[in-house]
Order: sequence, then structure tokens, then C-alpha cells
Amino acid sequence: MVVRIKIIWFFICISIPSLGIEQVLAEDFVRLREEMVQEIGHDLRETVAQTHVSDLSEQVKKALLAVPRHEFVPERLKDKAYENRPLPIGYGQTISQPFIVALMTELLKLKPNDKVLEIGTGSGYQAAVLAEIVDQVYTIEIIPELGEHAAERFERLGYANIKTRIGDGYYGWEEAAPFDAIIVTAAASHIPPPLVQQLKPGGRMIIPVGSQFMTQFLVLVEKDQRGEIVAEQIVPVKFVPLTRATEK
Ligand code: SAH
Repeated sequence: MVVRIKIIWFFICISIPSLGIEQVLAEDFVRLREEMVQEIGHDLRETVAQTHVSDLSEQVKKALLAVPRHEFVPERLKDKAYENRPLPIGYGQTISQPFIVALMTELLKLKPNDKVLEIGTGSGYQAAVLAEIVDQVYTIEIIPELGEHAAERFERLGYANIKTRIGDGYYGWEEAAPFDAIIVTAAASHIPPPLVQQLKPGGRMIIPVGSQFMTQFLVLVEKDQRGEIVAEQIVPVKFVPLTRATEK
């Protein structure tokens, strides 16, 4: 009798996936991603006076629809993954709000064969969005556990065009430089000179600048063909701080 109950229980367990539960969830995530993209489009239209980005471009929209954001948040927050807000990812860090990810990506004006450097891998979501658009993404994370988890995630999800490194991103990634675009996803007190140096002429960098408890601004840094730098404040933002190896 006991044996029979066990056998029945075993069959119930193995038949659950075939009931299509996983498939239903996957379809839900597709719908939630579409709703998220619509909301981002709305937010961009509302903020166009400051950002000069009037709507999502086809390439960024396609990337946002493709990346499974629910795979980049902790298990218990999966159902909130497509809400337009930042979420905690552990170690006192956050995955950025989808609107901010979209805005920063748009401001970089990426081209398919660009090489992009990201400072602050975190969950890896922003890097995955970039990797949907460009050929090569390099990303640096200072917290080893986060960097390692992100690297595993990239491998599991098939993002073979993302290279990861653990370290202080302030110094950039010299061996892979120069970059067409650089994105910093933690707030710096100033624009790191090594990053400016590793930007190609004609390249763009987007970086939140300011201290943790005061207003930070998203700053767009452009290097012209002669190597001259122009920096422009875009919108006030709130990011976790860019920490330095010496502070740890
Ligand atoms: N781009 C991330 C956002 C992560 S929040 C995402 O899509 O999820 C910012 C991240 O920057 C944190 O993980 C933090 O640990 C990291 N960070 C802070 N200072 C850093 C530094 N000097 N070098 C590299 N990473 C840094």
C-alpha cells in the first residue's frame, strides 16, 4: 500500500511540468515585458524636454522585449521583475529601474558592431540588454559574489558576447580598450579619467555623477574626433555609489 502511494505521488510530481505550468508562466512574462515596454515609452515621452529621447528606438525596444528580466532578480521577487522600479539584488545593491536602463541605453546611440564597457555588472541585466544590441560587451563588478552570479547567468542564458571581470571599474579595462561606448551604473563623485581615456574618439559615455545623499545627475560625456570632451547633465537620478577598492 505504502509503495503504491509513493508510486502515485511520483507520477503526480513528474507530470506537473507536462501540465504546461511553465509554458503559461513564460507567456505571462512575454505579456509583462510588452507592458513594461509600453510604460517606458510613456515615461520617455513625459521626460523628453530633459532627455531629448522622445521614444524607444526599435533596437532598444527589441532588446527590452528579448531579455528575461525575471531571470536577473532574486527568486522571491520574480513576480515584480517587470514593474518599472529598481529591486534589491543582495549585498546592498539594486537592479536599475527599467526606464533608467532604457534611457541610458538610448543615450549611448549604439551601433551593432560597437564594443561597450559597463562598470557595475550587478545582476547583469543592463549588460544583457546591451548584448542584444552590440557585438561585444565588457562588464566589471567589484563585489565578487555578484560578478560570479552574473557570469553564471550569462552562460546559462547564452550571452556568449559578454566578458566579465571582478575588480574596481574606476580603472576601466585597459587591454580591451578603446570602447565605442561606456556605461557606469553606480554613482561616481567625478568622471573617472581612466574611463575618459578608454573612450574612442566619437565615443559616448553615460554616468551618474554625485554623492550618495545628494542629488546625482546622469551625465552624458562625448569625446569628439579630436579627443575633446563635452559633458552634459541630463536628468536627476538615484544610484548606489561607485565604491573604490581601497574603501573595502
Ligand atoms: N547594471 C546593474 C546595476 C547594478 S547596481 C544591473 O543591471 O543590475 C551598481 C553595481 O555597481 C553594484 O553591483 C555595485 O557593486 C557595482 N559597483 C560599485 N562600485 C564599483 C566599482 N568601483 N567597480 C565595479 N563595480 C562597482
